[in-house]
Amino acid sequence: MVQGVGFRPFVYRLAKKYDLKGNVANCTDGVIVKISGDTGRIDKFKSDILNFAPPAACINNIRLEDIADIKSSDFEILPSVANEKITEISPDIGVCNDCLQDLKSQLHRVNYPFINCTNCGPRFSIVENLPYDRCNTSMSEFEMCEVCEKEYLEVLDRRFHAQPVACNNCGPKYLLNNEDDIEKIINEVAISIDQGKVICIKGLGGYNIICDANNNEAVLRVREVKVRDGKPFAVMFKDFDTIKKYCDVNRKEQDVLESWQKPIVILEQKAELCKSVNNDLNSIGAMLPYLPFYYLLFGKLKTKAIVYTSANSSGNSIVSDDAFARNSLENKVDIFVSHNRAIINPLDDSVVKVVGNNIQIIRRSRGFVPKPVYLNQNIEGVFATGAELKNSFGIGKKNSAILSQYIGDLKNLDVYNFYENSAKRFFELFKFKPKIIACDMHPEYLSTKFAEKLNDKNINGNKIPIVKVQHHHAHIVSCMCENQINEKVIGICFDGAGYGSDGNIWGSEFLICDTKSFDRYAHFDYIQMPGGDKAVEEPWRMLLSYLTKYSIGNVDDLECFKAVQGNEIELVKRMLAKNINSPVTSSAGRLFDAVACLLNICSKQNFDAEAPIRLESILDKSVTSFYPFDFENGILQFGNTLNEILSDINILDASEISAKFHNTIVQAILNIALRIKSDVGLRKVVLSGGVFQNRYLLEKSIQILTKNNFEVYTNRIVPPNDGGIALGQLVVASNYL
Ligand code: ZN
Ligand code: ZN
Ligand code: FE
Repeated sequence: MVQGVGFRPFVYRLAKKYDLKGNVANCTDGVIVKISGDTGRIDKFKSDILNFAPPAACINNIRLEDIADIKSSDFEILPSVANEKITEISPDIGVCNDCLQDLKSQLHRVNYPFINCTNCGPRFSIVENLPYDRCNTSMSEFEMCEVCEKEYLEVLDRRFHAQPVACNNCGPKYLLNNEDDIEKIINEVAISIDQGKVICIKGLGGYNIICDANNNEAVLRVREVKVRDGKPFAVMFKDFDTIKKYCDVNRKEQDVLESWQKPIVILEQKAELCKSVNNDLNSIGAMLPYLPFYYLLFGKLKTKAIVYTSANSSGNSIVSDDAFARNSLENKVDIFVSHNRAIINPLDDSVVKVVGNNIQIIRRSRGFVPKPVYLNQNIEGVFATGAELKNSFGIGKKNSAILSQYIGDLKNLDVYNFYENSAKRFFELFKFKPKIIACDMHPEYLSTKFAEKLNDKNINGNKIPIVKVQHHHAHIVSCMCENQINEKVIGICFDGAGYGSDGNIWGSEFLICDTKSFDRYAHFDYIQMPGGDKAVEEPWRMLLSYLTKYSIGNVDDLECFKAVQGNEIELVKRMLAKNINSPVTSSAGRLFDAVACLLNICSKQNFDAEAPIRLESILDKSVTSFYPFDFENGILQFGNTLNEILSDINILDASEISAKFHNTIVQAILNIALRIKSDVGLRKVVLSGGVFQNRYLLEKSIQILTKNNFEVYTNRIVPPNDGGIALGQLVVASNYL
């Protein structure tokens, strides 16, 4: 990733430093540097390239070749030739420290909220066409003033070829009603937030809603605007010191917070914000400002923490269209702030966690997309439609998998339209024509139906072949190819739901697999889901199903069922007995749901994975004991586990039971992995699937497996949840054909 990130000027400056002659030019998949000069200096030049590259640059490899003397008397940057094949585009980059300095001191950019340079600023969000030149972005309608143009053309200036370069005199402007004076706008927004008002404001990848994170009433109003029941909001803090006051942050987490991607990082909370921010969970999605506007805003604000959330109502796609935003949001908020730079590619904020010393991506969007995942195989022409929930799709360009931004849950029509439009945009932007389509096996997934729709379009009279990839195999392969593994592995995929090859809903699969096919070695017992999807929303249904299957416990005695209407319980009992609308599942997620309910932590989920998140959040990490479980004929059974939890329930604290339960699952993982090792001799274990977003479960599993001489691999580049499925689909499909 060396285009649009200030790489050529960087090379230029290095060449000057070491007095080397030659030139640098963009090429299809990188840059070519031709140099002549003293060999010792060339060596230094080479190592400096690796050690001091601009923050957003990423160098996979450097190839060296001797060439005939280029007979140059200087070093120059050659202009980009319009090249059909250049498809590299950097993700958006958070404002850099140099620009924050300029914001105070550079005359034409004092308080200029769109300040940027070659090291920072918008990229993917504003690009309409490639190559990434100003004329192909939404900056094309702003004509550079003379001062900006001079900087843009001056090789030694930090804004040399910074495509979105702009200033107070020539660039885009924020707008509040008819006011476009930035100082007045910042003042009014700051005063309003401190008064508890709710603001809708256009950002980089979409519209956001913000308010004081210490004002419960304001936060509740944001929930109203978003029609969002309980899901925690992200919080933007003034600076790192403020984050440290509210959250536990380790060194790695600090690095990630301060990285140029500026993602939301999920941290353990240590001091209270107001309750409605995260409704008693022990974690906060924390972030630092990434737009100049927010540095200016925090300069005026009294509060040092604001709720920062996308303006779409819950379940809908991100709002980026100005007219739509105004019509649907202006009358719901106190202040509406827009700006006149168009958002071409809408993007959510990315969400990550640090597990061990590694980053785990929960939602992959701003700052990460569209940076390719580099593979050790060619997947040219493969289009992967992704899963149905948390969708992200992907395209194959040679050895690169380019995954889309987070799209969302396709069942919502608004999101589905965003999905089709985004796919179309990716095809155009990256000059991509699908030759193979990969999709999930689930016949009802809208992403599967989209694949079938595309398949009907003929290329030269032939249909485009479709490869249907099993959901959990795709999860495991996503992790395998991230880690460049080509051999057979033990794939352990714990997940919410995915369509299995036997037509049942899977979700706790122990696979023996490579990147083409798999065998299912073991899985959790099949359990009925009374009411189908309803059993996901209401964990008490799953608990009732478990207790019924293993004939344990007395429902009337259990506290957790008291909140449920009596006749509903009878109804579900009958559904189970007569097997009405009760598909079976081996989902690990549903077992966590049931245990959370049994501990009376969550009998109805207000947001995705609330039950397991709450179960993990109460867990006492000092507990090392675990419950018994059974394994027979490839099936893990947790009847005994639940039975013992039942007898512990009035004796032990829920925090201890939760820990014992988590430890039980870790033991089950080790148990099956050891069996596979002794049966077939594999020792590479690949962990993926949404359940492994559970930090405790993942860390403990890695620990215990490593201690037992397994090599353990996890997702670091794509999410372990369904947002990473497309990567696995791309690779499996290309291996098939
Ligand atoms: Zn900058
Ligand atoms: Zn200007
Ligand atoms: Fe999944």
